[in-house]
Amino acid sequence: MSLLEVKNLKVSYGGIQAVKGIDLHIDQGELVTLIGANGAGKTTTLRTLVGMVKPAEGSIVYDGKPTGKIPVYDFVRNGLVMVPEGRGVFGRLTVEENLRMGAYYRNDENAIRDEIDYVYELFPRLKERMVQLAGTLSGGEQQMVAMGRAMLSKPKLLLLDEPSMGLAPIIVQKIFEIVQMISKQGVTILLVEQNAKLALEISDRGYVMESGRITMSGPARELLDSDAVQKAYLGE
Ligand code: ATP
Repeated sequence: MSLLEVKNLKVSYGGIQAVKGIDLHIDQGELVTLIGANGAGKTTTLRTLVGMVKPAEGSIVYDGKPTGKIPVYDFVRNGLVMVPEGRGVFGRLTVEENLRMGAYYRNDENAIRDEIDYVYELFPRLKERMVQLAGTLSGGEQQMVAMGRAMLSKPKLLLLDEPSMGLAPIIVQKIFEIVQMISKQGVTILLVEQNAKLALEISDRGYVMESGRITMSGPARELLDSDAVQKAYLGE
């Protein structure tokens, strides 16, 4: 059974249909990417998956349950965790406080401490800045905080919205390595990216979204090699 099963999802903002009836599924343990140009509807799709936007039509089943039956405040506790575009760190809290926010629903203090230390091992820069206010960090450091915070939530399905946006190539590389590592630990991941090449290179499967529709899907390797994807997204 898929961990996430989306059928005929339609989302409108007023009169504008941003998502026009998409189907997608993600199996347990998969790393799946959703690529597409600006305005294709990728962010809207993610927001709908976590209940921030109500669909006009269609069904979303997560871990065997329609998401409409899960109160929005319970999504994280159920393992459905998103790292939003723009990172969404709490600017007036310190790095460490931000990481703790990810574990807000937990009370296994010893495990939380170990996991925070593990995040510091992955991102030594955050360790150096643990008492710095997150709002004063660079974009790359904020992305590290956002991903660390998500890890503290113990996600089953992690939704990442353009983690590479606005970051220097060397930081992007590091972020993608961490995405791969989280995936290898067994977390199922849906990665939304404009950086199609890097995203497809680390993913098992991919979906291509154009103007609110899924126009192609398949194993990431096949998409990388396809003429259509190369022309439209890889500039080759
Ligand atoms: P990008 O890569 O630029 O973030 P995207 O694929 O994530 O693009 P969306 O942000 O989902 O695309 O936007 C899809 C369409 O919906 C766009 O035409 C956008 O202008 C529109 N849209 C998004 N959010 C809203 C909103 N809150 N109100 C009205 N229209 C919106």
